Amino acid sequence: MRVFVAGGAGYIGSIVTQRLLDAGHQVTVYDSLVKGHRQAVPLEAQFVLGDILDRPTLDAALGAEPYDAIIHFAAFIEAGLSMQQPGTFFRNNVAGSMTLIEAAAAHGVKKLVFSSSAGVYASKDTPLVEDDPIGPVSVYGHTKRMIEETLVWYHRIHGLRFAALRYFNAAGATPPVRGEAHHPETHLIPLVLQVALNQRPRVLIFGDDYPTSDGTCIRDYIHVLDLSAAHILALRALDEYPVLICNLGNGAGYSVKEVIDTARQITGHSIPAKVVDRRRGDGPVLVADASRAKALLGWVPQIPELRDIIASSWAWHQAHPKGYDSDEQGDK
Ligand code: NAD
Ligand code: UDP
Repeated sequence: MRVFVAGGAGYIGSIVTQRLLDAGHQVTVYDSLVKGHRQAVPLEAQFVLGDILDRPTLDAALGAEPYDAIIHFAAFIEAGLSMQQPGTFFRNNVAGSMTLIEAAAAHGVKKLVFSSSAGVYASKDTPLVEDDPIGPVSVYGHTKRMIEETLVWYHRIHGLRFAALRYFNAAGATPPVRGEAHHPETHLIPLVLQVALNQRPRVLIFGDDYPTSDGTCIRDYIHVLDLSAAHILALRALDEYPVLICNLGNGAGYSVKEVIDTARQITGHSIPAKVVDRRRGDGPVLVADASRAKALLGWVPQIPELRDIIASSWAWHQAHPKGYDSDEQGDK
């Protein structure tokens, strides 16, 4: 297949791009590098520097060759920040995605895989299934829901086949080459590992008064390689199912304190932690029931243990204590 990967210079997109190439697909990465890293893009992929909000550049890229599918990762990802800067998130994630989807339809692309999120759901104590109530508690989560709904209309009107993959918490790496390097970093596991590298004095725990066993938020961490496999399976499954909405998670919840404790065991560092106020936009518990992805995509996570997920991340952080080399050259 010829696959157009929007946001393919980012954490998840670059790893999916490598897996697509490994599976024999041709890949064009389209990324503005607003957050991504040129160095993360595999050399065998074509690279187009462009913004999904820029329709003429998108048209030129999508018109250059006939694409069988688009995988759309390009978005801003920080739920907490979306509560401070809602307009930035609506513009990039909603207006940007709509521009890309419109261009996809105009260029006759038949399949689209969209990076959705657990953030579309209302928090629930038991594993979430896809038909559970939608109830985003952040602007970020709402932008993901808006695009899922938009895709339904493009399916009805233009026959666009789409998969909305609702990732729970992506984590882990493919050391030594690719790993999680967000600027600014807001995700728990890389922040904890930066403390273990003595780059931060302590990790802040955002609230310990949630209605959970130890009072901290519970999340379901999924290895980025398992996410990658699901994308490739979804591209194929869209031949059979025109619309796929699937959770991607391990079905096991870990509290913030449990994540920090596991990282202490792996790194041998004491990882000091301090409890501070809750972060706006966080729900107490988000854990996936991924039965649908297993049944419809034939997806079987290979690295389900939190320990192994954090260990792969730790290996990458140790190999790249400053992130990607090009970050030091000021590509941000
Ligand atoms: P990332 O920031 O590492 O990657 C996003 C990429 O998109 C970056 O390379 C960035 O430069 C690019 N981008 C952003 N806006 C763009 C624009 N307007 N035009 C062109 N390129 C643009 O993020 P990630 O962690 O790899 O996440 C990828 C996708 O997965 C996002 O859509 C995110 O919302 C979704 N997601 C991530 C997680 C997670 O835990 N990381 C969980 C659920 C969903
Ligand atoms: N978290 C925290 N301290 C941090 C970063 C995150 O306590 O410095 C918590 C956050 O409140 C959430 C969990 O860790 O409950 C996972 O947050 P992350 O930002 O990694 O992912 P999210 O669940 O927001 O997608």
